[in-house]
Amino acid sequence: MTGAARALATYLDQRRRMGDPGIVPEGFGPGELVELLATRRAPAGARGDGASPDSIASLSGDPVAGEAGYEELRRMALGCTRCRLAEGRTQVVFADGNPKGRLMVVGEAPGAREDRTGLPFVGPAGKLLDLLLAAVGLSRRDSVYICNVVKCRPPRNRNPRADEIEACAGFLRGQIRLVAPSVLLGVGTFAAQWLTGQSRPIGKLRGTVYRYEGVPLVVTYHPAALLRNPGWNRLCWDDLQLLCELIDRS
Ligand code: SF4
Repeated sequence: MTGAARALATYLDQRRRMGDPGIVPEGFGPGELVELLATRRAPAGARGDGASPDSIASLSGDPVAGEAGYEELRRMALGCTRCRLAEGRTQVVFADGNPKGRLMVVGEAPGAREDRTGLPFVGPAGKLLDLLLAAVGLSRRDSVYICNVVKCRPPRNRNPRADEIEACAGFLRGQIRLVAPSVLLGVGTFAAQWLTGQSRPIGKLRGTVYRYEGVPLVVTYHPAALLRNPGWNRLCWDDLQLLCELIDRS
């Protein structure tokens, strides 16, 4: 069992001892689940090739992303003052993980820890995300690219506003174009709504496979929401199974 798998088993065991078996399917102990996953999926490697043409978003005319390369896009984001969120941020949180990853995870907005470290999904929600990814044989170091819909922390962790999301959207379009993932995972309402182009709440959007500019897309609850609502773990688990099927087919 790998270190990540051991950590996942420990986490699942702790949640079960706390009376929350939701993320572990019936009939499995945490260790058995991890073993099952380990045999079901070999760890997925990074994609080293380019994307198929229909998986690349057309960005012609986008004032931010344009035809910029990855480093240029990142530099543009790090100095960006296109919306009011620039005023209160400590630093821009552009992305983490592997820019050649086959899975791209899109979250909502940086929180306090992310603003401090400059990395998305750190702290308890980030740890849970890493564990969920480990459960399906993926890691942000090897095979996953992680970013948010908006790159700067909204004050007091309020929801990002529509004009802020719109101002920042060119960066996300550029990231999707340049990373060219095989599969997209949107976590949380704002990512799910932006990627699907729909305005329904996440509970209504999840459980279905969508396409974003030709790229298969699954949406699910944000890990921070899972920590607050353990009853959603089982639904998230179902969404991860959908994700696994897409990755297997990609
Ligand atoms: S949230 Fe996006 S658009 Fe707004 S200042 Fe930060 S990087 Fe620029």
